[in-house]
Amino acid sequence: MQRPMPADATGGVAPLPSGAAVLDAEAFVRPLIDNARQPVVALLRRWLGVPQGTDLTVRDLAPVADPTLRLAVAIGGPPPFPLVVTDATHTPALWRGTHLAVAHSGAGVAADRPLLAALTGRLESARTAGMEAELVRTARAWREVARVPPGEWLTFSADAALLRITFRCSQDCDFCWQDRDWRAPDDATVDGWIEAIGAARSRELTLSGGEPTLHPRLGHWIARARQLGLVAGIQTNAIRLARPDVLAALVEAGLQFVSISHHTANAADSDRLTRAPGTFAKTEAGIAACLAAGLHVNLNAVVDRRTLPGLPAHAEALVERFGAPAAPGQLSVSYSQPSEAWDAVVRADQVPPLDAVHAPLLRALQTLAAAGIAARADGPCGFPPCVLRGAPQGGPEPTPALAVHREGRAFGAVCGGCLQRAACIGVRRAWLEQHGERGLVPFL
Ligand code: SF4
Repeated sequence: MQRPMPADATGGVAPLPSGAAVLDAEAFVRPLIDNARQPVVALLRRWLGVPQGTDLTVRDLAPVADPTLRLAVAIGGPPPFPLVVTDATHTPALWRGTHLAVAHSGAGVAADRPLLAALTGRLESARTAGMEAELVRTARAWREVARVPPGEWLTFSADAALLRITFRCSQDCDFCWQDRDWRAPDDATVDGWIEAIGAARSRELTLSGGEPTLHPRLGHWIARARQLGLVAGIQTNAIRLARPDVLAALVEAGLQFVSISHHTANAADSDRLTRAPGTFAKTEAGIAACLAAGLHVNLNAVVDRRTLPGLPAHAEALVERFGAPAAPGQLSVSYSQPSEAWDAVVRADQVPPLDAVHAPLLRALQTLAAAGIAARADGPCGFPPCVLRGAPQGGPEPTPALAVHREGRAFGAVCGGCLQRAACIGVRRAWLEQHGERGLVPFL
């Protein structure tokens, strides 16, 4: 069974759209961030007494991981008059309230003493504890939205889109690059994005997370994607898909494919990796249920030091457990490198050198190919060609690597003379920094 092609409105199979637009994730996310910033600008305008018609811009100065509130405010201009609004403990402060302090940033404009005195007077006369607390609250809400990299909410290739609808999850893998408290786009935003993806004549939409099956509107979005002519699927841990009512509702909505995380053959090892005891058995039950329901199933394994030695046995287990229930072409397997953004301490322990990856990964790919299961490790999150030398790569070509996938990748000095250099996505920087060029063998 091949992965389904998009159906047209009459239910027939439509040809691949020509000239499908490649959408810009940044352009999709920008209005969301601007909307979240507006209440901050409005409050500052009111509080500082800046009239409409006079520019007031605000930037968040604090690094993502820094809980301190630190806003750069620029009023009027040119040059704009610069202020810094920060937590009440900030010193030195031009003005200090219960929750906030305001300082003249001194950047670019000499201190205008009469203006500073006027601002201080306005702050004091306009100040209420409620207004200060409101500014802190809206600034933090804005940061919650702005700190999620646009490419984490949605990514687009020429004909496929991936959209993350929640960052909640029923597992807590230590190699996950997301923060579980990242703010997900609101429902109306997801509605609008799906309409735009349909209008752009994308071929395929993957709804992901976090764990998308935890979102109550998942079925609605799958149904809408199908109405728009998109092939619809999800990235999931499949825990909830083991429940017949949940899976039946999603299939009824139009679900066509699932990409399921499955990293090791051993339940105890898997539950340790996912930090969710007892969930491996549910994931495997979910996989079996998806195969029985006729969905296309891709199983993805993350390769790190813990999963690497067991890759051949993992491949054998996949053949044994799921090879027979799957119809021809219904099951595929992919391998990926963990993102660089995972816990730095865990990463330092768990990044394997690439020369150690080659042999076990090759054996796993060969085992799956011999069983007729399409498997690859060269996707946008996968491995460079030199690590996969001699390995079979089955199934459709992976989606092209986008800027979001190339960030954090680098090349070694030996790559300069490699014939695969133009086609290669490179190696994760963490691998290079930790192990140097071990395992990079240029094609000459
Ligand atoms: S360019 Fe470098 S990383 Fe890519 S295949 Fe060649 S040697 Fe390997």
